[in-house]
Amino acid sequence: MHGLISDRPLLISSLLEHAARYHGNTEIISVDSQDKTIRSNYENVNIRSKKLAQALIKLGAKKGDTIATMAWSNLRHYELYFGVSGIGSICHTINPRLFPEQLVFIINDAKDKFLFIDIDFIPLIEKLMDKITKIEKIIVLCDKIDMPNSSIIKNLISYEDLINGENGDFDWPLFDEKTASSLCYTSGTTGNPKGVLYAHRSTVIHAFAAAAPDAMNLSARDVIMPIAPMFHANAWAIPYVTTMVGAKLVLPGRNLDGESVQNLIENEQVTFTAAVPTIWLMLFEYLEQSGKKLDSLKSCVVGGSACPRFMMEKFYEKYGVEVLHCWGMTETSPIGTINRPLAKHYGQSFSERLDVAVKQGRPVYGVEIKITDENDITLPNNGKDFGNLWIRGPWICSGYLNIEKSETHGEDDWFMTGDVATIDEDGFMQITDRTKDVIKSGGEWISSIEIENFAVGHPSVMEAGVIGVFHPKWDERPLLIIVKNENAKVSKEEILDFLKDKIVSWWMPDDVVFVESLPHTATGKIQKLALREQFKDYKF
Ligand code: ADP
Repeated sequence: MHGLISDRPLLISSLLEHAARYHGNTEIISVDSQDKTIRSNYENVNIRSKKLAQALIKLGAKKGDTIATMAWSNLRHYELYFGVSGIGSICHTINPRLFPEQLVFIINDAKDKFLFIDIDFIPLIEKLMDKITKIEKIIVLCDKIDMPNSSIIKNLISYEDLINGENGDFDWPLFDEKTASSLCYTSGTTGNPKGVLYAHRSTVIHAFAAAAPDAMNLSARDVIMPIAPMFHANAWAIPYVTTMVGAKLVLPGRNLDGESVQNLIENEQVTFTAAVPTIWLMLFEYLEQSGKKLDSLKSCVVGGSACPRFMMEKFYEKYGVEVLHCWGMTETSPIGTINRPLAKHYGQSFSERLDVAVKQGRPVYGVEIKITDENDITLPNNGKDFGNLWIRGPWICSGYLNIEKSETHGEDDWFMTGDVATIDEDGFMQITDRTKDVIKSGGEWISSIEIENFAVGHPSVMEAGVIGVFHPKWDERPLLIIVKNENAKVSKEEILDFLKDKIVSWWMPDDVVFVESLPHTATGKIQKLALREQFKDYKF
């Protein structure tokens, strides 16, 4: 129509082009795979990403080709986000923690054409080479002098060598914003991992939503360090958001222990970061041993698994850090909900605030959520009824790569998340369980997550997993499985006593067992299916 507003496409390359033009000197700090700290800025990175784009085109990369990465969170990986997607190819970030057979499956399923890899992962890929069908070239993310020798993979290319042959004189091409840009696989606790294909449009509008004040509230004045790895839902899309707002970016590399994280926060004056609860537990341990603080840090996202109440208390009271509890999935780009107070919560006591803050939050603009019962009837938002959680919106997946009919996609764009949740009158959603982890006792549901979150609040407990175990009268009863802190001495009775006034009596675990470690998925979650298998013959 004549005079209609511009339809200039929303492309991932435009994020970097904007940052280079208007925040050109703003720093990007990266710990590379040899643990060297590299300092760059948006202007340089835009040029290097353009050189990469030129090199990729020469290698034969075409629009729609899938190009894989197997790398930590570092500068070259960041350049790949833009260099690959910027020419219309698809950046497939592989999670190296998947089982070898899953890695083979996803590399072949995605038809990856080239693989860009950190030195650390060469031994891993060497073992899989004879089962991988498509990869034509493997490029190692290092300088020529650091190139490893491999007797198995011939003709490895050095990344720096590859891009040094180019001049960076390149205009990012314009194309349809609905073009596929990037690919992540879910970790596939049952069956094979499933590919989620993001588009330029979905990535850019998700970044707008993520930066907004009632979401992550990010600006050019922040120093942002995503700790969630760049191979886990694109570091929760934080590299894109940071580039959009032109903030200083810190990419922490492979060492995510408490000391490394605290050092980076202090040295780079990080104001915002994001990670799963396990990372925060390691950080707390280091802070307690060293007496160090988190002075520059204003807020942090906790997501991927539920944030226990004690963690929130500690962040606020001891370290003065605001906690944003977020819920999302690989399938949701990943932001679904995020927890920010409403005006009506001002003036509440700290304890009342925490009652709300421990929930997984409200939908940001763009997504809708609902809960349904087993007959797919929508349940009321009363904070009590819980049911299957559904989500829809312009950055929620509409299906899976190479899967004709998805069982979890319903009518009218709704996607069934596999989580069980409540939604209260104000729209705050709270996850009670994964559908397949739900414990059903005498016909009533018990939230394993809630029991776990209280249990980890005990000073002797490092990690806790709750599963349902067969019970002759009640069908299932909860069993609490605990990993103690090093040298901690605590009995079953003390744990049960600690839980007594925190959870209702019929939710109390029937037994507590202590183990050396719990099984985890490739994204760091407790693997409940494996735990159930391990304790399938357990008798109360
Ligand atoms: P995976 O590949 O392990 O499934 P995802 O990041 O996609 O990786 O996992 C998404 C799932 O993680 C959600 O469906 C939910 O069960 C869980 N999850 C994410 N954030 C939270 C949270 N804040 N609280 C509880 N569970 C969460």
